[in-house]
Amino acid sequence: MADQPNPFESLREQVDDAAAHLDADEGVLTRLKNPERVLETNLTFELDDGTLETVRAYRSQFNGDRGPYKGGIRYHPDVTRDEVKALSGWMAYKCAVVDVPYGGGKGGIAIDPSDYSESELERLTRAFATELRPLIGEDRDIPAPDVNTGQREMNWIKDTYETLENTTAPGVITGKAIDSGGSEGRVEATGRSTALAARETFDWLDRDLAGATVAVQGYGNAGSIAAALLDDLGADVVAVSDSSGGIHDPDGFDPRAAKEYKSETGAVDGYADAASITNEELLTLDVDVLVPAALENAIDGDLAADVAADVIVEAANGPLTPDADDVLAERDVYVVPDIFANAGGVTVSYFEWVQNRQRFSWTESRVNEELERVITEAFDGIIDAYETHDVRNLRTAAYLVAIGRVVDAYDQAGSWP
Ligand code: GLU
Repeated sequence: MADQPNPFESLREQVDDAAAHLDADEGVLTRLKNPERVLETNLTFELDDGTLETVRAYRSQFNGDRGPYKGGIRYHPDVTRDEVKALSGWMAYKCAVVDVPYGGGKGGIAIDPSDYSESELERLTRAFATELRPLIGEDRDIPAPDVNTGQREMNWIKDTYETLENTTAPGVITGKAIDSGGSEGRVEATGRSTALAARETFDWLDRDLAGATVAVQGYGNAGSIAAALLDDLGADVVAVSDSSGGIHDPDGFDPRAAKEYKSETGAVDGYADAASITNEELLTLDVDVLVPAALENAIDGDLAADVAADVIVEAANGPLTPDADDVLAERDVYVVPDIFANAGGVTVSYFEWVQNRQRFSWTESRVNEELERVITEAFDGIIDAYETHDVRNLRTAAYLVAIGRVVDAYDQAGSWP
């Protein structure tokens, strides 16, 4: 990609775009664009051959006005301090737009997890949990999975925290395995909200999702489940991709079978009779719905000029650069923003935390019904803001709703003398 904007700058631009429609005090605006605190640390852990390695890790606590900081931990070589700060801000506004009572946080370790064995990853994760211990807690900061982390890492963090604190506190982290206090429906939740977001948008546009063509960039947890659930809603998944490339079949294919093929072979490329395409070709396919479900900055301003989809539903965090937003708004392409579309993950994390606090588990159907209610109500709120204020896109409308809630919570708390 030619230009790779700093995601933290992108977040600040998004907040500024919305703040231009609000009468916010300069001091409050600065607060809305900066994290409250960032932990930057070096984790030293033992490799299987007995040598020691030290890697860089971060946790950003962006805003706690609406509740405990909340957000995932990612393991990726591109993790930087600014990326984690941006992701923590997106979490704060995500929680606010779906009205779950949390602030925003995010963490990351700058590693490629495929370079390490399971026992090395366990020692590293426990070292991070030990470092995080004074910051996290059921009512303080609640981590969760993100890119390249899942139930396994969450279970290790919970166990480390509970052991060191000599307590039982399953709500210190979400995204756990069911037998460790996880929730039904949590694994599917991000993909589920992405599919629901597409459904609500098509209803609003008076268009039929049944028969609509879909391309999905990124075929991990969010992308593959969004594809499967969009298929259930009658849409035709015609293209999907992962980091090694993509596949395209204009007649559509079974997204679950493509996922199985990827699990067996490591990549979607080669699945059935589908043609091989590049990620860039996938992003510019003439489809009804494009779902970027990988990393930040997937679509920049140049590529946005060639996007042929009518609707983009952001399953990833920050997949469009601010330049791409400008171009797409100009071209009347509807962008359903990340802070809403992928909010199913944190919403079901909230349900998991509620279940943990109550020591009472919900059925999967209850989880999914409550999630659907949260997503449809949030969508209505965004559309209301879009239609009431003269904003250029759904992202700015979502930020208007979210920032309004954060500012209200801050104002209502009053000032400390
Ligand atoms: N990592 C997910 C996100 O970006 C989920 C966060 C959570 O469940 O706290 O929204």
